[in-house]
Amino acid sequence: MSAIDALPPLREVIATHGLSARKSLGQNFLLDLNLTAKIARSAGDLSGSDVLEIGPGPGGLTRGLLAEGARKVLSIEKDARCLPALEEIRAAYPDRLEIIEGDALDIDVTARLTSPIRIIANLPYNVGTELLTRWLDPPAWPPFWESLTLMFQREVAERIVATPGSKAYGRLAILAAWRSDARIVMDLSPQAFTPPPKVHSAVVHLTALPAPRYPADAKTLQMVVARAFGQRRKMLRASLKGLAPDIEDRLLAAGIQPTDRAETVDLERFCALARSFNA
Ligand code: SAM
Repeated sequence: MSAIDALPPLREVIATHGLSARKSLGQNFLLDLNLTAKIARSAGDLSGSDVLEIGPGPGGLTRGLLAEGARKVLSIEKDARCLPALEEIRAAYPDRLEIIEGDALDIDVTARLTSPIRIIANLPYNVGTELLTRWLDPPAWPPFWESLTLMFQREVAERIVATPGSKAYGRLAILAAWRSDARIVMDLSPQAFTPPPKVHSAVVHLTALPAPRYPADAKTLQMVVARAFGQRRKMLRASLKGLAPDIEDRLLAAGIQPTDRAETVDLERFCALARSFNA
C-alpha cells in the first residue's frame, strides 16, 4: 500500500492520541488512506475548490482531500480529543487546512470559504440526514455548495437516490431529485471502518442544479409531499383530503389519479400539485 503523504499511519495516530472510538459521536473511522483518497477523487477534481468536511476524526479523509489537491479544507470536529492529530495534518499542509472545534449543526461556515465549494464527509450517522436536509433546503437556491459527496448507511443512500415505485422512494428522494443530480458512487462493507458498524455504507454524490428541476414553492412542495408520504399506503384522495375541499380536481389537474398512492407519483407531478396551491 503506497503512502499518500509523509504523516504517520492512522493506526499510529489513533494510538498516539488515544482516540478510542465513541459510539455517541458516530465514530467509525476510515484508516485506509488509499480508500480515503478514492473517496476524495469520487467528488471530482478538487484542485480549484474549497472543501467543507464535517467530522474529520483522526483525519483520514482530511488527508485524502489534501493529497488530492483541494485548494483549502475546512474541517469541523466536535470531539476535542481529535484536535492534536488534526494539528499535525495542518502543519504538513501549511495554509490549506482550517480546523474548527464545534458542532456542525450550530456553525455557519460559509463566510470562511470561497466558491466553488464542495462538501465531502464521512458523516456521523446521527446527524447525517439532518445536515443533508439543511444543505438541500437553504433559504435561497442555488446553494453555497456545488456538490455533496457524503457517506451514509446504505439504506439511507438508497432513500436519497430512490425512484418512484420503489420502497425507498419518499421525502428524501423527492427533495434530492428536485434540486440535484444524485447517485451512489461507492459501496463500503462494515470492514472498511474501525470499529466496523452493523450495516453497510455507501457514498452518495449530489450535484446542485442551477435551479430546481420543476417550478414549485419549496415549503408548499414539502408540505404536500410530507402529507402524501405520512400515510404512504393510503390513496392520495384520502391522505391529502384535509388540504383542500377540491383535492380530487387538483390531483387530476396535476396528472395524478385520486386513487394513486404517493410512492407511484413522480417529482414532476408532485411539483404540479404543489403549484396548484400557490396559483
Ligand atoms: N472522517 C473520519 C473518518 O472518515 O475516519 C471520521 C468519521 S466518523 C464516521 C464521524 C466524525 O464526526 C467523528 O470524528 C465525530 O467525532 C464527528 N462528529 C460527530 N458529531 C458531530 C457534529 N455534530 N459536528 C461535528 N463533528 C461531529
